[in-house]
Amino acid sequence: MSSSSSIPVRAALPEPIRFERFPASEHVVLVHGGAGAVPEASRAAHAAGCLRAAHAGAEVLRAGGRALDAVCAAVIVLEDDPLFNAGTGACLDESGALSLDAAVMDGQRLDAGAVACLPAFANPVRIALRVLEAGGPILLSGEGARVYAVAQGFAPAGDAMVTSAARPNLADAKTRGATLGWAGGTVGAVARDARGHVAAATSTGGKTNKKIGRVGDTPILGAGTYADDALGAASATGDGEAFMRLLLSKSAVDALAAGRADAAREVIAHLGARLGALGGILLVSPRGEASFARNTETMSYGVVGPGFEVCGT
Ligand code: ASP
Repeated sequence: MSSSSSIPVRAALPEPIRFERFPASEHVVLVHGGAGAVPEASRAAHAAGCLRAAHAGAEVLRAGGRALDAVCAAVIVLEDDPLFNAGTGACLDESGALSLDAAVMDGQRLDAGAVACLPAFANPVRIALRVLEAGGPILLSGEGARVYAVAQGFAPAGDAMVTSAARPNLADAKTRGATLGWAGGTVGAVARDARGHVAAATSTGGKTNKKIGRVGDTPILGAGTYADDALGAASATGDGEAFMRLLLSKSAVDALAAGRADAAREVIAHLGARLGALGGILLVSPRGEASFARNTETMSYGVVGPGFEVCGT
């Protein structure tokens, strides 16, 4: 079985920024499959996986569904795909365990749900959505997240989620040193629905060989995930510590709302210039203009709206 193991650890320097912007669309879903350096031979499969996920989200929107449900539908497809570092195929922490982070945010009422350091459950984004719907705490972590998930009827998944390459990948990261343990392959989605609401969802295993208890940017609102109908929606991937220090997802939607259509490029340039860090971000504006930027070699993506679909790395 293939897995995110084929993705090399972090490259040394930011690449030239790639920025793409798509025309405004009544409804649109844009997904990413992680910023990193996917080898040439795997790029088509990563792009195809992202397009499949974007279609799953677009189907929800075509049927008149909510942006919130579209981003979850898209992320579930990627969590189930062992190519990506989320759900099945996620990377392992220093103890050899899965420790999963996920978040979902609804731009209409600023409702949000997130889980951090969740053990093996097939679809962390479903649990994050349940946290959102419950309307209480926004972020549940570790044992608390596990207990909550079980109480809500989610079945623990066990070792079936660990792909054949995840353990050698961990061993490789250990020999290289813990600071080099970035797997890439985080997944995320942003969407705008026909009613003008936006949403974002992100899910990840984090970094290979990460410290036990380490939480990345993914479940931290404003860092890895954000949505506000008045501003836009964002889902990030890359060096989580840097995204948290810069609160990059919130900065990005603030820049969009200030009329800066190339906000994605702007914040990724800042990520590289201020901290020398690597990553990528997806945005959708309140008017349905999807865009993304990355300063890594690749960030697989797929975007689907009425009458158009694009994917790539
Ligand atoms: N941002 C994720 C984290 O730091 C990793 C990634 O996107 O590759 O946990």
